[in-house]
Amino acid sequence: MISKLYLIQRISILFVFVIGLIFFTGCGGSTEDDVTCTEATWYKDADGDGSGNMLESLVACEQPTGYVSNSNDKNDQDSSTIEEGTDDTGDTGDTGDTTDDNCVTSTADNDMAVLACKFYNDASLTVVVNDNTIKITSTSEPDHKSMYYATSNSLYQAYDNTANDPDFKKNPNTIGAMNYTFTIPRFPTSASNKKATGFGAMGVSLNSVVFYNQVAAPGDDILEELHTFDQYAGHPTNTGSYHYHIEPTWLTELKGSDTFLGFLLDGFPVYGPYENDVEITNDDLDDYHGHTGVTADFPAGIYHYHITTDFPWINGDGYYGTAGTVTQ
Ligand SMILES: [Zn+2]
Ligand SMILES: [Zn+2]
Repeated sequence: MISKLYLIQRISILFVFVIGLIFFTGCGGSTEDDVTCTEATWYKDADGDGSGNMLESLVACEQPTGYVSNSNDKNDQDSSTIEEGTDDTGDTGDTGDTTDDNCVTSTADNDMAVLACKFYNDASLTVVVNDNTIKITSTSEPDHKSMYYATSNSLYQAYDNTANDPDFKKNPNTIGAMNYTFTIPRFPTSASNKKATGFGAMGVSLNSVVFYNQVAAPGDDILEELHTFDQYAGHPTNTGSYHYHIEPTWLTELKGSDTFLGFLLDGFPVYGPYENDVEITNDDLDDYHGHTGVTADFPAGIYHYHITTDFPWINGDGYYGTAGTVTQ
């Protein structure tokens, strides 16, 4: 009895060795359990971006958790390429976005990759974290209702604010799908030569809608334009680009008034109008509309912008850091 068991053990060890040999030599084969099983090589996808690491593989019939069939990822081991915006489920505009997939922990005090998972409107944006940049594509189509959606759109909702604002009026534009690509610094630092923000998108918010600065298009007056804002304080240009100049009330209602709401083009984060239950005013902020301090996401402290109730709302005299690029 003992010798038989010993023999079985020896045969098992031999079998494992043979399987290992088959795997090592790259030959296909089948396991002892199921002759119809087709083995394949699976590559470890440590950073969850759908691309595997060619240096870490195993052979199995079924796809193991955390492995993929390709070996395209050259950066897998350091998790430097992270895609967000493709695999959150059910989090378009809901409040239950607890998945927070692909958020990374980082040892760098100013690594904006820790915020990549906060962007949630997957239908309208993608976020990719690269070694030194964060790339965000955005259609700038809000996930909330708006009187500026075409009436055929399920997010169209009529709105009339004349009870509160006698000068309220809808502008003649309609929200369209934009094609923004932001490439912003992943590790932002203060610029020695501060540059002004330009007309057009100066940043992007959690739901893909872009931030505009406190200046209206040439020939228009921003204080007049305020009367055209919709039920969530945004409006579209005549090319269909929906944007926020002031607090995006949908996001502060959804995520909180003291939370991270998006990036400006220089990579520094934008937070809501509250901090530690106290409303931030312009007096608390520098000329660029930010300050350095601890936030929920950066316990070691970080420079960050705040949105305030009063003009200039999101940004002041320009970018605190060196702006990345935005194409449309
Ligand atoms: Zn505007
Ligand atoms: Zn602050």
